[in-house]
Amino acid sequence: MLFIDGAWTPAASGREFASRDPASGEVLGTVADAGREDAVAAVAAAQRAFRAWSKQTAHQRSAVLHRAWQLMTERREELATLMTREQGKPLKMARNEVGYAADFLLWFAEEAKRVYGETIPSARADQRFIVMHQPVGVAAMITPWNYPISMLTRKIAPALAAGCTVVVKPAEQTPLCAIATVKLLEEAGVPAGVVNLVTSSDPGPIGDVMLGEPAVRKISFTGSTEVGKVIAARAAEQMKRVSLELGGHAPFLVFNDADPVHAAKGAAAIKLLNTGQACICPNRLFVQRSIVEPFAATLRDRLEKVVAGHGLTSGVGVGPLIDEQALAKMQRQVDDALAKGAEVLAGGKRLTGPEYDKGCFWEPTVLRGVTPDMLVYREETFGPIAPIVEFDDEDEVLEMANDTTYGLASYVYTRDLSRALRTAEALDFGIIGINDVNPTSAAVPFGGIKESGLGREGARQGIHEYLDEKVCGIAL
Ligand code: NAP
Repeated sequence: MLFIDGAWTPAASGREFASRDPASGEVLGTVADAGREDAVAAVAAAQRAFRAWSKQTAHQRSAVLHRAWQLMTERREELATLMTREQGKPLKMARNEVGYAADFLLWFAEEAKRVYGETIPSARADQRFIVMHQPVGVAAMITPWNYPISMLTRKIAPALAAGCTVVVKPAEQTPLCAIATVKLLEEAGVPAGVVNLVTSSDPGPIGDVMLGEPAVRKISFTGSTEVGKVIAARAAEQMKRVSLELGGHAPFLVFNDADPVHAAKGAAAIKLLNTGQACICPNRLFVQRSIVEPFAATLRDRLEKVVAGHGLTSGVGVGPLIDEQALAKMQRQVDDALAKGAEVLAGGKRLTGPEYDKGCFWEPTVLRGVTPDMLVYREETFGPIAPIVEFDDEDEVLEMANDTTYGLASYVYTRDLSRALRTAEALDFGIIGINDVNPTSAAVPFGGIKESGLGREGARQGIHEYLDEKVCGIAL
């Protein structure tokens, strides 16, 4: 069902589409397949609801988000199980994601109350300046399948806190997670029309309405750089505000003053995050030549030991890829790397057997001898392939690390404080983990530079993506 103006309704066309478990192919349920007409109705509902919602006090809006946080925290297990079934990540990772998703509800319940203005001294004695912030209006949101609940709350929570109303289109592969999230918001007391959900198997017409309707003043998109560019170009036609959280190609730098075993354990953990399907997963592991042996051996051992399977099975550390296309990309990148001289240290092929044949499973893979002419060095992999590139000195590795159009996450392992700061300053990425593979939190700004996007989510910055700044000059 779609959620429009506070009511769960079928699509105007009556069409539905199925959501499947990517590990088994099992149909988990069918959902309404929205088209243009439904998206128009959702935008109209959001527009109608805007006046009253934006007039509620920040404290009232905060209370709703706080209730939503409580509900999500209570339902962590239930939501995590649904997420594992629909998206495929192992249950432990799904629990972490629900916790991360709930963090945004709590964080922005608090930030709602901290939208401070400013007074600015004037050069004129008879003048005063006041800067104030007001909600932009209707915000449209498009989210990906890889983080199916937290990508929703990372957008919806700041928008509601700011006083905006929203229309959300989740990814086609994970509509059930979106429905569960919106039901929870409804239960928390979000008034009719404030949050509208349009699930669809065809994003084109929905995106078209979001971009074409003048009532929509803001588009927040998380997904591929390719689609993000199309959205930014169309949004420019009406000068709608945009936030874009796009693809990444994270470099992971390991200097020879670091502990190579510790660094390799970190690399294994972050590489296998969500089966490698996270925008902050490392895509190129740059290791200083003198420590490449212990680093590669530890990484190989770690990746070989991880058990692949259905995310609900105890002991499973790596789930399926989302679809056949993703598997084909792994195969293409490995074939290309091998043809150009790389060596496989672990994995390297599709997993087969009764447990794997109904899903899209790829063996966690370590490649050594990766060079800049290979696809894996350039393309976002979005899967469990760890390519090792050897380097000799700091200047050389910084140049290689920055040699990408992406600029989302990056990682540095070193025990030298000066080097840590130098490299953090020199890396052209929005997020830098120094001896740390978890440099994210609802409290810190998340986002990329270059072709990884525009704007920041989370932190105190996140709410400003949904606020217009106004200055008021007053003559006394
Ligand atoms: P995608 O193909 O760009 O899809 C993302 C969303 O956009 C989906 O809801 C999709 O709908 C929709 N969409 C596709 N074409 C559209 C169009 N023409 N108009 C309007 N909407 C359209 O990306 P994905 O494969 O789902 O997600 C993986 C990508 O997301 C990776 O590149 C990853 O790095 C990035 N990502 C970035 C972040 C971040 O915070 N920077 C976080 C997570 C993921 P359908 O599902 O119906 O196709």
